[in-house]
Amino acid sequence: MTVFPVPPAFLAPFAALVGVALGSFGNVLIYRVPRMEGVGGRSRCPHCSRVLTAWELIPLLSFVLLRGRCRGCRASIALLYPLVELLSGAVFPLGLWLSGWQVLPGLVLGTALWFFLLAAAMDLQTGLVSDAFSIPLLFFAGFYAFQHPGLSLLPALIGGAFFGVQWVAGGGGGGGSADVLVGAAMGFLAGTVPLLLTALFAAYIIGACVAAVLLLSGRRTMGEQLEFIPFLFAGTVIALVWGERIVQAYVGG
Ligand SMILES: [Zn+2]
Repeated sequence: MTVFPVPPAFLAPFAALVGVALGSFGNVLIYRVPRMEGVGGRSRCPHCSRVLTAWELIPLLSFVLLRGRCRGCRASIALLYPLVELLSGAVFPLGLWLSGWQVLPGLVLGTALWFFLLAAAMDLQTGLVSDAFSIPLLFFAGFYAFQHPGLSLLPALIGGAFFGVQWVAGGGGGGGSADVLVGAAMGFLAGTVPLLLTALFAAYIIGACVAAVLLLSGRRTMGEQLEFIPFLFAGTVIALVWGERIVQAYVGG
């Protein structure tokens, strides 16, 4: 693999800025893909349909300047939109950092995490994940894994099977098929079985904590399904950043 010697001090802020801008585009996708709308055309306020002006489209900054409300109808803008922009600005520098600042693997990993983020955000909003996010996620995760010497397909197979079994056991309906693709992608990103298990374990712990808080605060009722892709995203990031140390502490190595 060719190493481009780009200093992190330049690469990190550049990747963050590009990421934030991509996050803005990602928000358009998250809003329009479930509604089967094209990506062309001007962005509008979802409440009053007013066409947004150029400065209202500036990521993050516009949310702060608008104080989270539409200038026309005063409807509040979902916090998810600036959050997606912020996290988009984080996943690309994170991918580069995890890849030792090598440009190609770093950007591939960043792109995989970006599609993972969009899948999580769409799941949070609609309870479903479009193949428009899960298939590119799997593709870039696989692409990332194939750049590593000694690639093992086992983690991806286990990740896919883990959700595949649940999907079949649950009757095979609904949006469970996206989970299978996401599970396989998690396997590719984790690269090893212990790291995949760390990612899944972290996702379930965070999911259980959030579910407990939502139940106790009365915002959810028992038996109501919780969107799970955001926890899988969080678990995968945790495994990528701290996984090696967690596994070592666990096996006492
Ligand atoms: Zn409005």
